Amino acid sequence: MTAKPFTVLVIGGGIGGLALGQALVRAGVNVEIYERNQDTRSWESGYRLNVNQTGSRSLYHCLPRPLWEAFVATSVDSGAGLAFRTEHLEDLATIGRAVMTGGATGPASQHYAVSRPVLRTLLLAGMDGIVRYGRAFQRYERQADGKVTAFFADGSTATGDVLVGADGANSLVRQQYLPGAPRLETDAVAVAGRLPLNPVTLAWLPDPIATGMNCVLPPTGSFLFTSAFDGKRRMSGAIRRGHDLAAAGLDPDVLLDEVSDYVLWAFITHRRHYPANSSALDGAELKLLVDRMIRDWHPALRRVVADTDPATVGTLRFKRSTTGYGWTTTPVTLIGDAVHNMPPVMGLGANIALRDAAELSAALAAAHRGDIGLVPAIAQYETRMREYGFGAVREATRYTGLAISGNRLARHGMRGWLRLCQALPPAKRKTFGPVQWDIADRHQHQAGAPGVHM
Ligand SMILES: Cc1cc2nc3c(=O)[nH]c(=O)nc-3n(C[C@H](O)[C@H](O)[C@H](O)COP(=O)(O)OP(=O)(O)OC[C@H]3O[C@@H](n4cnc5c(N)ncnc54)[C@H](O)[C@@H]3O)c2cc1C
Repeated sequence: MTAKPFTVLVIGGGIGGLALGQALVRAGVNVEIYERNQDTRSWESGYRLNVNQTGSRSLYHCLPRPLWEAFVATSVDSGAGLAFRTEHLEDLATIGRAVMTGGATGPASQHYAVSRPVLRTLLLAGMDGIVRYGRAFQRYERQADGKVTAFFADGSTATGDVLVGADGANSLVRQQYLPGAPRLETDAVAVAGRLPLNPVTLAWLPDPIATGMNCVLPPTGSFLFTSAFDGKRRMSGAIRRGHDLAAAGLDPDVLLDEVSDYVLWAFITHRRHYPANSSALDGAELKLLVDRMIRDWHPALRRVVADTDPATVGTLRFKRSTTGYGWTTTPVTLIGDAVHNMPPVMGLGANIALRDAAELSAALAAAHRGDIGLVPAIAQYETRMREYGFGAVREATRYTGLAISGNRLARHGMRGWLRLCQALPPAKRKTFGPVQWDIADRHQHQAGAPGVHM
């Protein structure tokens, strides 16, 4: 098959869209990214992200080496792992690095925590001219010659051979392309905030809260997640050790400005425990509501909430995508939250968006080389994505249901299972080991690409 050059239009310069853009540039595919934000500073900063093994492997696949190395240097590793604890901070199970990674040792097989603005800065490096800002997508039209034209709010248009909706959970591309697949409400509501990590808080924070990730499971009805993020300390260390961020086109001072050290906490429970107007409550009112619900918990957990600056506290009603449907492949496709948005309880959404970027870019690179037609390449990606992407939505939704369930017996069983996992390493490995995936097998022969196995 002879390769015919083609152009990919990506709507949305978020995590998935930018990673896809990086990978397509590496593969020599023409790509244009259209982002509604006006410039690099316009995104909401948001919380840190946990990048799991799937996300690491995907980033390794998508990024040029200097950027990948900058990602590792500027991230916080998962040394302390993830612990499940009771509301009195008693251990239920601790999931260390070796379990989470299945014993894999290479940097592309590890878990990392990364500041969102830093990840965005990395993903934007070298993308001048490819990312077009201030271009809010409104709709698309498919042309008689097979091309697709995107229409933007400023009256401009862009025409390409493939249109990728990477425009997040409220995707307008999805709403036009798959109108029968709306986002659905769940019953879960989260209140989240950030407590700074500084000498004052480090003096009283228990070690597990100050250093790692914790899932606190009381006997019924709710769930508290905490995650320590010492991004600034870590990044300063990398810079002191002489890591050459400039080699990746990055300014260390700009990156340092974008991170701070804090403990992120998120308290999740059923919406019936909040007043109907909870989205209108301010940070101080939300903190009081949470405090009432954790009144008999360990004092340090209560203090984490009490000492948090109300300005950092907000609420989020969890939603999820419709799953379990298919469609006929065309040159219009979707990645990330645009197609499989899920409750953030397991920290999967960005990782799956990164996997989409790796999978779709590998398929499009194969079409670019002439190994496969363009639409069959997209079909290959979509078939796989529906399986792992919708699977992740179902898993995150199921776990959210368990987290907010008022069924004491079920929670008792869950806590018992965690204790058993702690006592029986094989059960722990089976329950918490990494998800297997095989993009490495499929794409390791890809010319010029490193593969994603390490
Ligand atoms: C509180 C919270 C914590 C989370 N923690 C984690 C975690 O630890 N790990 C994890 O894996 N996931 C986490 N997630 C989920 C993760 O944030 C998302 O799954 C991820 O951002 C999805 O990436 P995306 O590229 O699909 O969409 P986004 O990152 O949302 O990007 C969409 C982009 O499209 C742009 N856009 C939207 N509409 C238009 C338009 N009409 N025209 C042009 N551009 C448009 C937006 O401005 C944005 O830049 C969390 C989510 C939340 C809410």
